[in-house]
This record gives sequence, C-alpha cells and structure tokens, in this order.
Amino acid sequence: MHRINLLNQRLANQIAAGEVVERPASVIKELMENSLDAGATQLTIDVEQGGTKLMRVRDNGSGILKDDMELALSRHATSKISELQDLEAIGSLGFRGEALASISSVSRLRMQSKAEDEADSSGWQIQAEGQDMATRLEPSAHPQGTTVEVRDLFFNTPARKKFLKTEKTEFTRIDEVVKRLALSRFSVEFNLNHNQRAVHKMLAAKSDHEKQRRVGLVCGPAFVENSVTVDVERAGLRLWGWVSLPTFSRSQADLQYFYVNGRIIRDKLVAHAIKQAYRDVLFHGRHPAYVLYLELDPATVDVNVHPTKHEVRFRDSRLVHDFLFSALHKALAEVSPADQLPDQQAVVGLTQPGTSGFGEIEGQSSLGLRDAPASYQSADSGAAYSSGQSVNPEQVRTQLAALSQLTQPSQLQQEDAEVPPLGYAIAQLHGIYILAQNKEGLIIVDMHAAHERITYERMKLATQEEEIKMQPLLVPVSIAVSQAEADCAEQQQQALHDLGIAIERVAEESIVVRQVPSLLKDSNVEQLVRDVLSDLLEYGSSERIQAHQDELLSTMACHGSVRANRHLTIPEMNALLRDMEVTERSGQCNHGRPTFIYQSLDELDKLFLRGQ
Ligand code: ADP
Ligand code: MG
Repeated sequence: MHRINLLNQRLANQIAAGEVVERPASVIKELMENSLDAGATQLTIDVEQGGTKLMRVRDNGSGILKDDMELALSRHATSKISELQDLEAIGSLGFRGEALASISSVSRLRMQSKAEDEADSSGWQIQAEGQDMATRLEPSAHPQGTTVEVRDLFFNTPARKKFLKTEKTEFTRIDEVVKRLALSRFSVEFNLNHNQRAVHKMLAAKSDHEKQRRVGLVCGPAFVENSVTVDVERAGLRLWGWVSLPTFSRSQADLQYFYVNGRIIRDKLVAHAIKQAYRDVLFHGRHPAYVLYLELDPATVDVNVHPTKHEVRFRDSRLVHDFLFSALHKALAEVSPADQLPDQQAVVGLTQPGTSGFGEIEGQSSLGLRDAPASYQSADSGAAYSSGQSVNPEQVRTQLAALSQLTQPSQLQQEDAEVPPLGYAIAQLHGIYILAQNKEGLIIVDMHAAHERITYERMKLATQEEEIKMQPLLVPVSIAVSQAEADCAEQQQQALHDLGIAIERVAEESIVVRQVPSLLKDSNVEQLVRDVLSDLLEYGSSERIQAHQDELLSTMACHGSVRANRHLTIPEMNALLRDMEVTERSGQCNHGRPTFIYQSLDELDKLFLRGQ
C-alpha cells in the first residue's frame, strides 16, 4: 500500500510550472503580461543567451506594495480577481496567480519594485531560491514600477532543461512573444535587447500611421503594403485591423495575429471563420495573413479555459463566427483594383482612346460583357488582324487606320478627365495579356484570369438572386447518422431548407434526403449532407453548399471565359478593364491567382538604371 502525501510547496509549484513555463519565451510572456496588467507604458526586456542565462523585464507600472512582495511569489496569490463574479468578466491578462510562483520554483528569481502608493519608500527587492522557496526581502532603490529578473531557468529541473533548443531558436520564440504583445498594446513602448544588443525599439504608437508602422515592423512592410484595413461594428461586436490581400498569401499560417479584448488567442472557430472568408479568393493551400482585433463584452467570452490562456470560449460562438465571416468576406469582396495599386486618387492627364466615355459603365453593355459567360465573342472579329498572310494591302491600311484612331487621341484629348485605376489599354501581348497604362505606370492584365472572375461573380449574383432551386432526388438518399446529427437535422430543418436541402428524420439515427440544390444534384449527396451537418454542429452554420455551388460555377466560368489567343479590340480591352474595376474580388481569378500586375514608371526606371 502506498500512503498519500501532501506535496511540498516547491514540488507543487514545479508541477504547475510544467503547464505555464515551458521555455524561456513562456517566462517572458508571463512577465510582460504582468507589466501590462500593472498599467505600464514602457517595457524593457533584456535577454541573455536566448533567455537561458538571464531574462529581465522592467516596467513603469503601478508597482507592488512592500507587504505584498512576498505574497506575489506564492501560488494562488493575485490582485486581479477576488471572487467568482470577477472570473466571469476578466479584463486583465493574468488572474490565476501562479506565474511568479511557478517561475520562481524553477529558476533564480529577483523582483524589485516600488509602488506608486508608497511615496515614502525608495523600493524593495525580494529574492527566491533554494529548496524550501524561502524568500529574502530587503530595501533596494528602484523607480516606480517593477523589475523581475529570472536567471538560470530550469537549473534545478535538468529534465526540462534538456528540452531547450539552441540559443537562436529560444530567442526567436522570445522575439515572437514580444512582437505579439507589442501588437496588442499600441500605446505602450517596447524595447527588446538580446546579449546587450538592441533588437526592437518600438515607441508608443498613437496615430493610425504610427500603428501601421508598428504593424510593418512586426509583420514586415510588404504585409502593410498588401493589406486592407477593416473596421466593422455590429451587435456589440467590433472587428478591426489589417487583412492581407488574397494575392499576398503565405505558404505557412505564420502571419496570423488575432486578439480578443487585447489578448492574443488561437482558436479553431476563429480560424475557421477567417478561412471561410478567404475561401473564394485564396490560391489553393495558401494561408492568409492578418492582424485582427475583436472587441466584445468580456462577460461573453471565457478565458479560463487553458492555463496558458491561448484558447477562449465564446458564449455565443455562432454569432461570433458569423460576424467574423461576414465582416471579412465583405471586406475582401470590396477590395477593388484601385486598392491594390499605390495611391491612385485624382489621377489626371490621360484619357481613354475613342470617345465612348468609360466613366459610364453602362455603356459597356454593348460589348456583351454584361451577358456572361460567352462574352467577348466580338473578339473573334478581331481575329482578322492576326490571320496574317492572305490579307490584301487595302484591308491592312483600313485596319491600321482604325487602330491608330483608337490609340492616338489618347495623349491629346480631355487633359482634365480622370484616368481610371487600371488605365487604358494600349495593346494585347501574344493573345494572352492586355497592356494598359494608367497615370503612374504599366498594368499587365491576364485577360483570361480577369474575365473568368468577372463571369464567375456574375454567375454567383445571378444564382443568388434566383433563390436556390431545389431538385427532388429520384431516389431519396438515406443516411445513417449519429443521434446528435439526427437531432441537428431535425432542429435545423429550416436552415437546411434555406440551403436547398430537404431532410426528414426517419429513425433515432437515420435521415432521408429528399431534395438538394439542383446545381448539386450530381454530387455525392451523402458526403455533402454529412459535411453540412458536421458544420452545423460545430460552427452553427455551413458555407459548404455555397462553396460547392461556387466551385461548379467557377468551373463553368472558366470554360466560358475568353481563352488565350483570342484577339480583343482596344475598346473590348478597355471594357474588360472597366469591368474589373467594378467587379468584386477582381484582383484574383477564381483560383486565387492575380489577374493583373502593376509596374510604376519609377520601378521601370530602376530596371533601366535611369536617373542613377
Ligand atoms: P497573476 O498575474 O495571475 O495575478 P502572477 O503570479 O503573474 O499572477 O502575479 C502575482 C501578482 O503579483 C499579480 O496579481 C500582481 O499583483 C503582482 N505583480 C506581478 N508582476 C507585477 C508587475 N510587473 N507590476 C505590478 N504588480 C505585479
Ligand atoms: Mg501574471
């Protein structure tokens, strides 16, 4: 028989440390969070040897009273909550009261502090080390605020020490923690030094421009240049921040920062909503980049889910999912080619060839662009230009005259008219690309990709307007499901019906599908319904039907769109450019590839070493 022992304090702390102190970066995270909770506006983080030798976080926060210094190091001691109600609406980053106790049980810790309420003292310090975690308190001069110094992490737990990686790897992780927290509080100054060399110096950012600069420091300038800002507020929820243009996608999900009330989190529901929002515009297998802030009533989100507090639980997860999805979906749909170009407002000086006035988009309907998918057919008439050899000289002359009429006046007339963002077509390259010029440079459009997206968006609109057509199945499909799925199918009959699916529950664990959207009648009905039910169970809504339909439409659009080697006339090319400007998501084709690229005159000059 083994007897039951009460664990000694140190061992208990070391066990708790297993959860929160995994590596140097976790120590930095806890110390920085404490500083932020203390209202600090300035944090200086010194690290030596990847944190294994020394980590020091100094702040100018509210400090700790002399009489609380010792308590701060004990477990379950916190100033942030005192009763159950507090736990239900947590505004601070910490609340478990175990970080300092855990850290001090596996390192040599020294904490200096001077509280703002103790004007007469000049500061105190406490050190913790040794078998029984005995602490020593003595006077020590310190400006208002707190410095916590952690040396020799895991010196007494060699098994853990073995899991540490190289100095460089550990420091990279620390750097990542600092960056994450720096993005969570723009108003705070952060300084990070490694081996006495300055790594980051981020001054408090107040204006939008300064905030953007900090985002650029953390995520790289390319992210800022290739992102759009969002700020949406609805039903007590606010989402703001930066999201990458779909064409600036990444092979890894490494540039993703999501904050809930100032706390960074990784959450399945959030990730899913964002992924859904990018579904239609992202190249297969790529990941979006974002820095996003969700603000909501703290009482509607539970942060006490995991010791490291990386996970949260939303009270109304369906509401949050829908809000995130719709806010981002809309933001991405609204990205226009103009947003993807450097500042384009008030560009004047160039005008479109011909006189048909491209300001009025309606004028384009004559070109057949409005009745997708088989538009640009008039392009075939242009094939005469390429059919080369057999044309007679007279024909060539008239064609050339026609061409020059289209292209020449552009430089001359209407000096004051505005040039649209994608400019005016000047030529077609190898039957594949449209070359166009706007005020500042050259635009190259992949005409198939662009037309494909335009056609696709129109088909989607058309099917949305129609209401989903349902098609009764000749042979109803019966599916064996779990009881939870059958319950869900029964309760969500209306939601399913809105998606175009008619389901009947025939037994505890069996359902029958009688109708599906007509577009999807040939798909694998069983798989589709299973997926939809699992979406409904997990996220409360399903985008799957939409996704499947879109996929079909996308294929149809692809086949119905202008192919390479089709010659377009200049007005047709211009019409395509104008359509791109007003079509949602037109910066990417249906597969997420870019539809156009842009080279400014400056960039071209550089290529030719002009002015150097
Ligand atoms: P928690 O943050 O969950 O409260 P900690 O163990 O991290 O637990 O810290 C214990 C307490 O010590 C905090 O509640 C706070 O009162 C105090 N404290 C820790 N660090 C600081 C700091 N940098 N400035 C002011 N008070 C601090
Ligand atoms: Mg803490």
